[in-house]
Amino acid sequence: MPDQHNTQHSGFSFFQREQILKELAAEAFDVVIIGGGITGAGIALDAASRGLKTALIEKGDFAGGTSSRSTKLIHGGLRYLKQLQFHVVAETGRERAIVHHLAPHLVVPEKMMLPVLKGGSMGKGMIWMGLTMYDLLAGVKGDDRRRMLSKAETLQKVPLLPEEKVKGSGYYAEYMTDDARLTIEVVKTAVRHGARVINYTEVTDLLYDGKGMINGVSCTDRLGGRTLTVQGRFVVNAAGPWVDDLRRKDNSLKGKHLFITKGVHLVFNKETFPLDNPIYFDIPDGRMLFLIPRHGITYAGTTDTPYTGDKDHPPVLEEDVDYILNAIRYLFPTLSLDEKDVLSSWAGIRPLIYEEGKSASEISRKDEIFISEHGLISMAGGKLTGYRKMAEKVVNTIVRKGGWPGKRKCHTKNIPLTEAPFARQETVMAFREEMQKRFAHYGDHEVDEMVMKYGRKAEDILAGAEKEGKTPAIAEAEYALDHEMVCEPLDFLERRSGRLLFDIAGVRKDLEDILSLFAGRLGWDGEKRRNEEQKVRERMQEITPPFASPRT
Ligand SMILES: Cc1cc2nc3c(=O)[nH]c(=O)nc-3n(C[C@H](O)[C@H](O)[C@H](O)COP(=O)(O)OP(=O)(O)OC[C@H]3O[C@@H](n4cnc5c(N)ncnc54)[C@H](O)[C@@H]3O)c2cc1C
Repeated sequence: MPDQHNTQHSGFSFFQREQILKELAAEAFDVVIIGGGITGAGIALDAASRGLKTALIEKGDFAGGTSSRSTKLIHGGLRYLKQLQFHVVAETGRERAIVHHLAPHLVVPEKMMLPVLKGGSMGKGMIWMGLTMYDLLAGVKGDDRRRMLSKAETLQKVPLLPEEKVKGSGYYAEYMTDDARLTIEVVKTAVRHGARVINYTEVTDLLYDGKGMINGVSCTDRLGGRTLTVQGRFVVNAAGPWVDDLRRKDNSLKGKHLFITKGVHLVFNKETFPLDNPIYFDIPDGRMLFLIPRHGITYAGTTDTPYTGDKDHPPVLEEDVDYILNAIRYLFPTLSLDEKDVLSSWAGIRPLIYEEGKSASEISRKDEIFISEHGLISMAGGKLTGYRKMAEKVVNTIVRKGGWPGKRKCHTKNIPLTEAPFARQETVMAFREEMQKRFAHYGDHEVDEMVMKYGRKAEDILAGAEKEGKTPAIAEAEYALDHEMVCEPLDFLERRSGRLLFDIAGVRKDLEDILSLFAGRLGWDGEKRRNEEQKVRERMQEITPPFASPRT
C-alpha cells in the first residue's frame, strides 16, 4: 500500500484496509452491523464494549448518509412537546447531558432563544409552560433552566430582531455538535474496544443457515472490487434511509415501513447574517426553523418534505432555498438575504417510520426495532441525540437472544468519546482560551473549530502546522489520513473537517495542496487525481448557488 511518509498510523487508517478486510472475512462475529451512521456506530460501541465480537460495515464513508446532514443539535426536541410526545422529550432530554459529558468539547452547551412574536403561533404563556415542561421532563438543573427574557433583554442578545415584532423570548439550554465528527468519534471508540470496522464496503446479500436464519452477509469492497463474506450470529440492519432495502432483501418488508423526508440547511457568512445567539422560531406555515451561529458563519434550516428520489444524492433545490430564505425574511425583514448569499448548503433525508394520515412534520421521530422471522434485527427511526439509548436497546435484545447473561449491562454512559477526555466544560473552555492565545495567528474561528472537532488533539494538529509551516487544513488532512480512515478528499473535506460546509472559500484556496497530499500519500496517478478533483468540484457545485429547480 503506497505511503511514502514515515508516519505512525493509529491502526485506523486507509493503510490498514487490507488487514481489516482479511480479518472480517476470516473471523466469525457475534454481531455484524450494516451501516456506519450514528446508529450503527453506537451499536458497534455498545456491543464491543460489552465484550461481543463486533463487525461494522459501511457502504460509503462513515456518516456519509443522514448522520452528516442533520441540524447538528443534541436536543430534547421542543417540537415533540408540541406533538405531545412526552416520552421522546424525556429520553432525548436526559441523553443530551450524558452525551455532553462523554465529549464536552464536541457536544457544546448553548442557550437557544425562542422569540415571542406579535402574530406568532406561540404566546408568552405557552412558551413558558412548554419550556417549564421541557426542563422538568429532561431533568434540567441549575443555570441551564429556562428563563423568560423581556423585550429589551431579547433585543440586546439579538439586535437584528425587529423591535416592532418581538415581545420577548424564552431562553433555554440545548447542545450544538458536529454530527459527522460525533459519528467518527463513536466509530473510533468502538475500534478501541475491539470492533472491526470498514468503510466503502457494501453489503450486497444476506446469508442464511439451513433453517433459514440469518448468519452473515456478503459484501463488496467498493475501492478494491473484492467480494467477501462476513459471518455473524446476529446481523443488525442500521442502514438509516436504506433500512427497508435490506428488509426487502430479507423478504421481511411487511407492515411498518419507512417514510423518507428531506431537510435542507443553508450556510451564510457571519457578516451577511450576523447572529451571535441560536434561535428557534415558528414560521407562518406552523413549522419551526433553527438559525445557528458557528465560528464565523450562520446556518439555517430545515425544510421537511416527502422524498422519493436518489437516497445517495438528495439535492438542494431552488424551492428549498426559497422556503428557508422566506422564513428568514419573515423574522428579519430588514436583512436582505438572497440565493447568491448562500455560501454552501446540505440536504439530508430522515428515515421516519410511516404513520397513516400524518404529514412529514407530524410524523414521530421515535425509534423502533423490527425483528424479522429470519432473525434480521433492524433499527429504524430515531435521532442523533438518542443514538446511545437506541444502541442499548438493540444490544440488550441481542444479549437476551444470544443467552449471554454476563453481558447484560450497558457501559457506554461511562465511555468517553475521545482518548484524552476533558473532565468538564470549564476545562474545555480553559483549554480553548490557551489555544487561542498560543495560536492567535490562525484566528479564533480556526482554533475554536479545531478544539470543537478534535479536543486536546487540536494542540498537536495546530503545533504540527506551525512547526512545518503548513496551513491548519493541511495538518488536519494529514491527521485524518493517519487516524480517521479517510479514503478520498471528500471524506476529509465534508465529514471529518466540515470545511466544505463551513469554510468553502478556504477549501477553494487549499484544494490543490490537499489533492497533492492525497495523491502523494495514496500513490495516485494523474488520472486518479483528476477524477478525485472532479468529484470535489462537482460536490462544490451541488451545494452552492445557482441551485437547480425541479424541472432542470
Ligand atoms: C435535515 C435533518 C435534520 C436533523 N437534525 C437532527 C438534530 O439536530 N438532532 C438530532 O438528534 N437528530 C437530527 N436528525 C436525525 C438524525 O440525523 C438521524 O436520525 C440520524 O443521523 C440517522 O442515523 P442512521 O445511522 O440511522 O442513518 P445514516 O446516517 O443514514 O446511516 C446509515 C448508513 O447505512 C449505510 N448503508 C446503507 N445500506 C448499506 C449497505 N447495503 N451496506 C453497507 N452500508 C449501508 C449508509 O451508507 C449510511 O451511511 C436530523 C435529520 C435530518 C434529515
